[in-house]
Amino acid sequence: MDLKALAERLLPGDYPALELYETLYPPRSLPKGAEVTRLAPSPTGFIHLGNLFAAIANERVAHRSGGILYLRIEDTDLKRKVDGAVEAVIKALDYFDIRFDEGAEIGGDETYAPWYQRQRAEIYRAYVKSLIEKGRAYPCFCTEEELTALREEQTANKEIPGYYGKYAKCRNLSEEEIYKNLDAKKPFVIRLRSLGDPEIKHKFHDEVKGEITVPENDQDIVILKSDGIPTYHFAHAIDDHLMRTTLVIRGEEWLASLPIHIELFGALGFPLPRYGHNSSLMKQDGETRRKLSKRKDPELSLEFYRKEGYYPRAVKVYMLTLLNSNFEEWYLKNPEEPLESFPFTAGKMSKSGTLFDLDKLNDISKNELSKLSVSDMVCFLKVWAEEFGTEVQKKYFEEEEKISAVLGLFMGVGGKKRRKDFTTASQAMVMIAYAFERPQNFEEYRVDGTTKSAVLRDFLATYSYPDDAQTWFAKVKEVAAKNGFAAEMKEYKSNPEAYRGSVADVAEVLRIAVTGKANTPDLWTIMQILGDGEVRARLLAAIG
Ligand code: GLU
Repeated sequence: MDLKALAERLLPGDYPALELYETLYPPRSLPKGAEVTRLAPSPTGFIHLGNLFAAIANERVAHRSGGILYLRIEDTDLKRKVDGAVEAVIKALDYFDIRFDEGAEIGGDETYAPWYQRQRAEIYRAYVKSLIEKGRAYPCFCTEEELTALREEQTANKEIPGYYGKYAKCRNLSEEEIYKNLDAKKPFVIRLRSLGDPEIKHKFHDEVKGEITVPENDQDIVILKSDGIPTYHFAHAIDDHLMRTTLVIRGEEWLASLPIHIELFGALGFPLPRYGHNSSLMKQDGETRRKLSKRKDPELSLEFYRKEGYYPRAVKVYMLTLLNSNFEEWYLKNPEEPLESFPFTAGKMSKSGTLFDLDKLNDISKNELSKLSVSDMVCFLKVWAEEFGTEVQKKYFEEEEKISAVLGLFMGVGGKKRRKDFTTASQAMVMIAYAFERPQNFEEYRVDGTTKSAVLRDFLATYSYPDDAQTWFAKVKEVAAKNGFAAEMKEYKSNPEAYRGSVADVAEVLRIAVTGKANTPDLWTIMQILGDGEVRARLLAAIG
């Protein structure tokens, strides 16, 4: 068969000689050992924890080695790109300090642009044409119906599904049949003519999993669709070669495609990049472990962390804990060091299912937030509130001194030990709300209504804003004694029957009346922050 003529018929026109692409996209001049890694999402607008997992690994590997991390958008499967999807990816990752050196909507060194695959159609076609000329690719005229029938036959015969071997109907069409189909204007795709045999298996070094065995591919996969756009597999091989990727770290769901990729790189005459397949994030669900699911687990979406106001460093610390087995120990020894100092290596990534536990993240978050200075905390909450807060919450930041005092109190700044009450920005904002808004909901008083009113009335009668903490507390004790509560804890403990309760119960009544909560940081300080008028108003309202 005249393959050159066939290639010209299938992809007419002048395409550049492939050597041109080698010079247009030359090897990068980077120091020895520098890794070029990438993130290659499809622009669906949904970016998830698994993406972040891989992104952190790729970013660390690239930047620790003095290399490059770039963003490529794999839009070959989408008719149109979802508006704002790429910006959303960049923003979601930026929250966690993942910065790209070049790529779609980022710019950078234009040598390797464009970074949208749909804009590279010409390049892919040039390579497809050359594969047809070499006899490594052929047109396939099978219709949807034929392919469905094929799948059904294979299922019935309990055979591996796909287009291969004896099932690859168009693989051996005669020249005459091909031209007859073309003359009849039958739509076609271009398939790889696979030369592999899955019975033959090769040792393969995966940068994450270590030594694995990979069978040869025998699937005649589609490389160019009928609309002239390549498939993901084909575009991956071309782009990772021309963009000079040295290491591909991606989710282990792509491991099954590795045989195809190995054959494609070989057929194209490209050296294979190194690969590392990171394990999937799992969730404990009762007795079983399962993959995080988009439908069931809101925490899978990266949007969740920004909306809830997770402190980015906390999420990153947790991700690094999951990613590198030696991180936790390093972090214990170096709690103040920037995370970038950690000697991250792909080889230390976990080889199988990684358990993601939101409670563990929450613990880490509490810890990380408790380390912040008050002004950093104000800043963190303010940025969150500006995007996600209610109008009322935004107003909290109008009085800088007040919000600083409130946060200092909640965080236990200046005390013996920092408090660890805050998990996320959204939770912290709700927690401090009573310092800015009158409480609407009140936890249950443990005393009856008459006692409650009597206690509040007596306290109000003696309350004086300028009192220092001691004087204030002495007055609370007086109120306690007057109402049959022990003024001293010691007295109460040695003779509980003699009292209705202790001064602690009286303080709790005041606490609930003023804040709505039975547990708060120091109540005297809260009253100082609220101011005389506001305290009185709240007490009066509670008396009813
Ligand atoms: N476009 C693929 C994805 O959506 C990228 C796979 C790869 O990294 O090779 O995850």
